Amino acid sequence: MSIYDNPKEYAGKIGCTLEQSEKICSRYLKLAQEEAKQRICPKCGGDGLFIDNDGADYSCEYWVECPNCGFTDDVEKYQALQLGHDFDPLLYFGVMPIEERNREISDWQGFIEREIADLEKKDV
Ligand SMILES: [Zn+2]
Repeated sequence: MSIYDNPKEYAGKIGCTLEQSEKICSRYLKLAQEEAKQRICPKCGGDGLFIDNDGADYSCEYWVECPNCGFTDDVEKYQALQLGHDFDPLLYFGVMPIEERNREISDWQGFIEREIADLEKKDV
């Protein structure tokens, strides 16, 4: 169970409507599902695929790698892994004390709307 299984609780946490919350939660659940699928290595069947990089400061190269068998692949094929759905800015800012949040984001409702629009654009 995650917070995204409970849109009502989520709405209460971040201060949005239930309708907004349902959109957000269903997108994050979908992303998590897709990410779980994309973690499966096509070569050995392990579920540990992760995104690695060469650590260069500029022109950093990224790829997908399996820690089990060493399989590597083009990171562009792994949209859901790239999206890093585990960071939810709405939840991050949403649980802050309101004065603190207002210093970060002046228009909270506008921010929610933009995040929803962004989430709906993510095609996975
Ligand atoms: Zn593998």
